[in-house]
Amino acid sequence: MSNKRTNLNGRDFIVVGGAGYIGSHVCKVISEHGGRPITFDNLSTGHAHAVKWGPFENVDVRHGANLDAAFAKYPEAKIVIHLASSIEVGIGEKHPAEFYDNNVTGALALLNAMRRAEATHVVFSSTCATYGETENMPLLETEPQNPVSTYGKTKLAIEHMIQSFHTAYGLNYVTLRYFNACGADASGDIGEEHDPETHLIPLAITSALGQRGKMKIFGTNYDTPDGTCIRDYIHVSDIALAHIDTIAAFDRGLDTAEVNIGTGIGVSNLEILKTIEKISGRPLPYISAPRRAGDLSKLYADPRKAKITIGFSPKHSDLRNIIQTAWNFHSKAPRN
Ligand code: UDP
Repeated sequence: MSNKRTNLNGRDFIVVGGAGYIGSHVCKVISEHGGRPITFDNLSTGHAHAVKWGPFENVDVRHGANLDAAFAKYPEAKIVIHLASSIEVGIGEKHPAEFYDNNVTGALALLNAMRRAEATHVVFSSTCATYGETENMPLLETEPQNPVSTYGKTKLAIEHMIQSFHTAYGLNYVTLRYFNACGADASGDIGEEHDPETHLIPLAITSALGQRGKMKIFGTNYDTPDGTCIRDYIHVSDIALAHIDTIAAFDRGLDTAEVNIGTGIGVSNLEILKTIEKISGRPLPYISAPRRAGDLSKLYADPRKAKITIGFSPKHSDLRNIIQTAWNFHSKAPRN
């Protein structure tokens, strides 16, 4: 089909964290492009009902022996997509031990298991939170990385670990630094299901649905056109397709890259609320709340390197489509 990026010809791909929000969308597009996604996940935050496109291995990323047993079942899988991690920024500040264990210890155990299994390539889910505080927008990959949050620090530690494994052991890698993941698959079957939920769009939609109280907007006096923070919202289906583009780039011989995955377009918190009101036809009143610690006023990507290096450009990230797909997902009956 013309909208397919490449043909994965029945190949196996290990998707660590494949039961999660982004991971389940990655598994779906791998399957749509003719590959077989193998989900490794311990279901600590992922959902069994989101594993639909290939085998499932219930394995904790920190447990080397269990990883070895799981890898042994799929000896043809040479590319590993690593998305499993603790992501809730506030929890990372309260429980850094948990974050370093899940994220950094987990990544080390995974990379070592990959070496034993002779897997050759890793695609790593990193984040714009590795850059830290800066006024330099749009953000280039060359911006110094100086993360503020424990979450960002753990992701940067893993980026460094992967770079060392490349230098010493020849591991090929692409690090994808996602901006704000959002939206849901067009089917409405998979989407954002975090517990606790802290992200703007799902909170605002559930607020408009009457499932929670009024939205609080953290900071309405920033130095931005409407006073609220600006972010770069990239549809989860586009993030998933960036992984297909990365696989195709590996197949063409790419050995290493760090790239931003964003749209390059900044959208304010109030624009998000207005779009939800428009799409849903429901009022979405909000309360002005104090600024949230660590929030930058503006954060948006320079997306050019992703286009040049892996051939990625977003197709699904029009704001109306983001909100419509997220709305469809959240307005369906609760899942198990
Ligand atoms: N935000 C908000 N109210 C909320 C949750 C988020 O005003 O209940 C704001 C937050 O301060 C930031 C933007 O929405 O300006 C995006 O936050 P989110 O947590 O979704 O993603 P982040 O950019 O922190 O990764």
